[in-house]
Amino acid sequence: MLIDYHIHNHFSPDSESETEKIAAKAVERGMKEICITNHGETFLKDGGRETFTVEEAVKRFSACRKEIAETQKAFPNLPIRFGAEIEYKKEWLPLLKTFVDKMDFDFIIGSHHIVDGVVISSHHFAADLFSRAGEKEAYAGYFEGLLKMVEWGHFDAVGHFDIIKKYGHQFYGPFRPKKYKPEIMAVLLMMKDKGIGIELNANCLRDKCKELFPHPDILKWCLKIGIENYTMGSDGHEWQNTGLNIKEALQIAKDVGIPAISTYIKRRPTQHFI
Ligand SMILES: [Zn+2]
Ligand SMILES: [Zn+2]
Repeated sequence: MLIDYHIHNHFSPDSESETEKIAAKAVERGMKEICITNHGETFLKDGGRETFTVEEAVKRFSACRKEIAETQKAFPNLPIRFGAEIEYKKEWLPLLKTFVDKMDFDFIIGSHHIVDGVVISSHHFAADLFSRAGEKEAYAGYFEGLLKMVEWGHFDAVGHFDIIKKYGHQFYGPFRPKKYKPEIMAVLLMMKDKGIGIELNANCLRDKCKELFPHPDILKWCLKIGIENYTMGSDGHEWQNTGLNIKEALQIAKDVGIPAISTYIKRRPTQHFI
């Protein structure tokens, strides 16, 4: 089953896409279900993370939910779910919990983009960290943050699990999961404990590091310890990218032996065998 469970529309600070265009592209690419997952926080003009307030987010996400409901009428055969991608930042955690409880989401991605104050997913900033920190410091720092986010745990799946490699590979060479196995396993075991799933994020299959997030070795470790829920997402910020490289992500899922892909309604997963 092809699904795109990581899409940003114009209610996200980093996208201008209308839901209608996203849905049309999803149908064209053979998606059976999609989920709009906008950032909870607002951004600065240069892509830096500004702030998160419950009031602003509730207002913006309520408007998004309305647009999804309107668009759904025109696409009766494509379920469009209502989700969010929330950022791990320690000082935001109590606010995020309030926000998540208020919004009645179908699905929530937990993502970690900031290491030592640097947004590592953005080319504007990533070099700030990688040019001053050694590989071990940067990568281990990232996985340490990821662990704290999973300990908090008020979300359904970890987004782009090893996104640190997106620009990190330009400084340190190809990412080798084995080097960080203890750090990664600590995160995966905590996910298993809390019933948190993992996303197969296709965003960089075609450029940057040209790999799936996460590396297939990490997916094999997920299977070994019994993580049950696997989603797929393009992480598209432009409607043209909806569903892009999802077929390739599904092939990787099959190759590593993932038995089922999960969809969510009101944060309850349903598994679809592949
Ligand atoms: Zn992200
Ligand atoms: Zn995203």
